[in-house]
Amino acid sequence: MMEFRILGCSGGIGSGLRTTCLLLDEDVLIDVGTGVGDLSLEELSRIQHIFLTHSHLDHIAGLPLLVDTLFGVKSKPLTIHALPETIETLKQHIFNWQIWPDFAELPSAAEPSMRYVPMRYGDQIELGHRSIRMLEASHTVPAAGYSISTENSAIAFSGDTSFSDSMWDALNGISNLKLLIVECAFANEQQELSDLAKHYCPKYLAEDIKKLKNNPKIAITHLKPGYEEQIMSECEAAMPGRDLLQLRTGDRFKF
Ligand SMILES: [Zn+2]
Ligand SMILES: [Zn+2]
Repeated sequence: MMEFRILGCSGGIGSGLRTTCLLLDEDVLIDVGTGVGDLSLEELSRIQHIFLTHSHLDHIAGLPLLVDTLFGVKSKPLTIHALPETIETLKQHIFNWQIWPDFAELPSAAEPSMRYVPMRYGDQIELGHRSIRMLEASHTVPAAGYSISTENSAIAFSGDTSFSDSMWDALNGISNLKLLIVECAFANEQQELSDLAKHYCPKYLAEDIKKLKNNPKIAITHLKPGYEEQIMSECEAAMPGRDLLQLRTGDRFKF
């Protein structure tokens, strides 16, 4: 069994809205958006591994504060799994002693509070009964999605992406795919913005979803605040016959 708890899944902030942060069981986070701030200190202290999709702020905003909060609370370092480019960006622009201290060297380089493990597309990491694999996304910065498989079931998360053959090929190779969390950040009227920011709008997602040969439940995430209803009704119109739902903060899925 594995449990997924949605701590944040909005494209922005505002009352009740949190940015992308998914908790897998008790010990793994996928992205560290503002949603992480709703966990208790005890829950935070159980986190061991963090998988990042990319370096954009809505996906990492909570990371510097999380590491700082756990400093001195946890004896083991937090392990950050991400693309090498994402790790480099974090080192240069966040943990650079100006925006925030470099916790990969604190309290000492030998026993740090966080450590980086670079991952490439297709790499797979085994954590107990769960296999976590990095999928190739296509966004304005190097970006990834992840699939998480156990013996009996699998779920996948697109991260931020636009059109991608590689990701949909990989999804077709996953047997027992029960849930696909896929982004659709913008409404169709924001197609130009979708092109510029490399996000899906319903029309684009519907084109790519035709490549999907299996039939998982599809949870739409990263909706632009204020456009949620419009995006969802456009998704339903564009993808008839698909089992769609709007992902919401607080949702829990067990497989
Ligand atoms: Zn992004
Ligand atoms: Zn984003």
